[in-house]
Amino acid sequence: MPRPIRARIDLAALRHNYLLARERAGGARAWAVVKADAYGHGVLRAARAFGDVADGFALLDIPDAIALRDAGIRQPILLLEGFFEPSDLALCAEYGLTPAIHRVEQLEMLRAAALPVRLPIYLKLNTGMNRLGITAAQLPAVRRELAANQTVGAVTLITHFAEADGERGIAWQLDNFARMRADWPEAAAYPHSMANSAAILRHPQTARGENTWVRPGIMLYGGTPFADESAASLGLRPAMTLTSRIIGVQEIAPGERVGYGGLFEARRPTRVGTVACGYADGYPRHAPDGTPIVVDGQRTRTIGRVSMDMLACDLSDLPQAGVGSAVTLWGDGLPADEVAAAAGTISYELFCALARRVPVVEG
Ligand SMILES: *Cc1c(COP(=O)(O)O)cnc(C)c1O
Repeated sequence: MPRPIRARIDLAALRHNYLLARERAGGARAWAVVKADAYGHGVLRAARAFGDVADGFALLDIPDAIALRDAGIRQPILLLEGFFEPSDLALCAEYGLTPAIHRVEQLEMLRAAALPVRLPIYLKLNTGMNRLGITAAQLPAVRRELAANQTVGAVTLITHFAEADGERGIAWQLDNFARMRADWPEAAAYPHSMANSAAILRHPQTARGENTWVRPGIMLYGGTPFADESAASLGLRPAMTLTSRIIGVQEIAPGERVGYGGLFEARRPTRVGTVACGYADGYPRHAPDGTPIVVDGQRTRTIGRVSMDMLACDLSDLPQAGVGSAVTLWGDGLPADEVAAAAGTISYELFCALARRVPVVEG
């Protein structure tokens, strides 16, 4: 028998969430963002879930893009970080990949590559995120390059929001975007792509329009991009459910402690359930006492420090629970967002950290 831990990936939920994202984006087309192995859900599995409905797939690594092509994916594939070496460009041409271009020098490399086809590109503008992208000062050089370049095909402008989920919002970045396009006549005809999940849901004006592509990520996987609005209230369904079982029970007296460092000390007689799930499975080690967990369909709380292969929970108020009881760490019945918030992180990180050793089942 393998350890009882499992991650169940709900392909119908993935599909539901994709269709919801596209519906919220009006007439825009939607890249299914499947970077980081589809946020831990498996890039080929996600491709099966979205395959015939997705307008395109966005990711980072060329080998993943090739795996999608080999699996029969025909839609456009966008490389969100672009290419890393000039030799990547031949692969972009061969496999029909659309690289993001975020530095002037990359346009020069593209010109020098003398490819047999023109490559569609996503030209990344830095409108305030200050991570990647071309600045206003670099625009004249970019326009000269674009005019001279025989290897560039269709151009789409892309920018990324830093605070679409926060108070500062996006208006300031839209102003910068508009300013960069203001005296650039060719740009008026370029399609653009701005909205991530948070913007699709909270700033739909950035997501709408026929000449627009949106880039939903976390919402596809049933996580909320917001601290103050749950995934369920947004109509999203959890795609990943992490379950395991109780494999041991200890009855301890007041004053006794649990786990490494003795971080939890019982104040009352306590039944401690030991769950086969630890940080080597991807559960966050920094999840404190009181992180929600579901045992036998009832909510309780973790206690003590998470170890590599196990964690403990309080069964004192669940007298029927014992060895073999089903445990949900997150997913159906316990939003990953709540577990993440308790652990001081976001569901993105929980999903991406799912360890390779956890068997995945589809359902
Ligand atoms: C990851 C990523 C997205 C998706 O963001 P979510 O917050 O998960 O929706 C969109 N665009 C770019 C450029 C990204 O890197």
